[in-house]
Amino acid sequence: MIPALLSNYAPADLAFEKGEGMYLYGNDGRRYLDFAAGIAVSALGHAHPRLVAALVEQANKVWHVSNLFRIPGQEELAKKLVDATFADAAYFCNSGLEANEAAIKMVRKYFSFTGHPEKYRIITFENSFHGRSLATIAAAGQQKLLEGFGPVMEGFDHVPVGDIEKVKAAITDETAAIMIEPVLGEGGIQVVAPEFMRALRKLCDEHDLLLVLDEIQTGMGRTGKLFAYEHAGITPDILSSAKALGGGFPVGACLAVEKVAKAMTVGSHGSTYGGNPLAMAVANAVVDVMTEEGFLDHVAEMGNHLKQGLAGAVDRHPEVLEEVRGIGLHIGLKCKVENTLLLNKLLEKGVLTAKGGDNVIRLLPPLIIEDTEISEFISRLDEACTELENG
Ligand SMILES: *Cc1c(COP(=O)(O)O)cnc(C)c1O
Repeated sequence: MIPALLSNYAPADLAFEKGEGMYLYGNDGRRYLDFAAGIAVSALGHAHPRLVAALVEQANKVWHVSNLFRIPGQEELAKKLVDATFADAAYFCNSGLEANEAAIKMVRKYFSFTGHPEKYRIITFENSFHGRSLATIAAAGQQKLLEGFGPVMEGFDHVPVGDIEKVKAAITDETAAIMIEPVLGEGGIQVVAPEFMRALRKLCDEHDLLLVLDEIQTGMGRTGKLFAYEHAGITPDILSSAKALGGGFPVGACLAVEKVAKAMTVGSHGSTYGGNPLAMAVANAVVDVMTEEGFLDHVAEMGNHLKQGLAGAVDRHPEVLEEVRGIGLHIGLKCKVENTLLLNKLLEKGVLTAKGGDNVIRLLPPLIIEDTEISEFISRLDEACTELENG
């Protein structure tokens, strides 16, 4: 007999009964400091009173009508996102990969709509992650994602991050867009240099390509800006958002400039649940909190404090820790020991973190973190490292 639950995950043998702010309470009776935030999702922490109130209020009104009818929460959220970003229009869906799927379809539709259906290829980057659908695993192009799933969807050309000459060389008459994560999240918090981001924008302008940013992990405040493209002083044509957008309620969004949005005519794309009233109620509350005066400054400040603390830990534990990288509260701690060893040791110490590529553990705490929790984390990290050093 196999377990009734499909074995595609390997979760830690721990479940949680309740969450509050920066902490989760385990069914083992222990309290855990949450530096994983459900993979950069619970950006406002657990059971944030305003998110709970928004969800409960909507739950007592109407849950679902699909897009057969107007959903006022969608119009409201779209307006907020348009006002706060480069975008002229927003499409709502339920997850990250769906936001990327919409982005990829928008790229193709835009060129087809404007008389260039031959332009459909997208340049993407090695070590990227864009989700687990057939299109998004093809976009990322990593063998470990593609293995066993048959013919790979056509239309993606992969180049290394940081090598602008290779990007140029990959452009053909069929190229429609360049798609990149401003920080390669699953890839181990590899920050793409702002100069490279600007060079990509310039290439897109010169060759009439669309710039697509996957900000599913970097977006919604994680890096100390609402979206990470702001650090590079550029704007994309299309941007995908999810994760923190719903603060734990499943939702995704694909934002686009006017010329692209116009190509998405009635019937061209859609989703039964996309932009459902419950998701919209919560996401509106998330955006309201994050766009309040001082919220993003707090993220940047806490990011600096955490990084300073981590730099000290790297100095104290050179056998265990190698390097700190990241922006804001999107931080990677590259390990000298196997990253899982440190992750498990931290778990023993009551701290949750997330694994990343390149032997990194990702530190993705809720953005509401304060200095006391940063100090608590650094002490636990010191203890964990010391125990690893002593074998
Ligand atoms: C998490 C993530 C995705 C996929 O999101 P899902 O909601 O898991 O489908 C895509 N791109 C990036 C950069 C991500 O971090």
